[in-house]
Amino acid sequence: MLMAVRKVIVLGNPILRQKAKPVRQITKGERQLIDDLLETMDAHEGVGLAAPQVGILQRIFVARWEGETFVLVNPEIEWRSKETVAGMEGCLSIPGVQGKVVRHEKIRVRALNADGNPIALQPEGWLARIFQHEIDHLDGILILDRTDELFWVVEEETGEGETKVRLIPTTKDAILAAFQQRRRKTASPRSR
Ligand code: ZN
Repeated sequence: MLMAVRKVIVLGNPILRQKAKPVRQITKGERQLIDDLLETMDAHEGVGLAAPQVGILQRIFVARWEGETFVLVNPEIEWRSKETVAGMEGCLSIPGVQGKVVRHEKIRVRALNADGNPIALQPEGWLARIFQHEIDHLDGILILDRTDELFWVVEEETGEGETKVRLIPTTKDAILAAFQQRRRKTASPRSR
């Protein structure tokens, strides 16, 4: 099966705000989508990618963490630890932005794998964070909804040929406005 990098949709696209539908059966189309999600995630050097991010409202996400690959279909969080932890998250659908998001330290998830077989996973730490971020995408929830501690990520030349990353505090409204403006600029005149 040929894998293809699909277009990742960004903030402002209403699909990102919709709830994805459960997958009823894993057929050729779903298998192709899973392969493409992995290919697209790798092309963007991401650690996770959910189907709505490529415009498909199906409850599927993929992740890669510490050399392991995860494909979860119809994931359900069955249990969340009381302990929470704050960490900086980016999102391929909100490029150039990071947010400090509080997540459950551990969760237990049931899902189907790429073959349609039931699996149960108990990720902790960063993997638990990735899973919670991606499952949020399946419900139309973005990091902007989870935190007020938001930052623009600005790469600066240090003068010695190196780049340094600087985080500039911002707000949800400023981010929404910037992406709306960007959307207007990139829309072709014909589509207006
Ligand atoms: Zn995301």
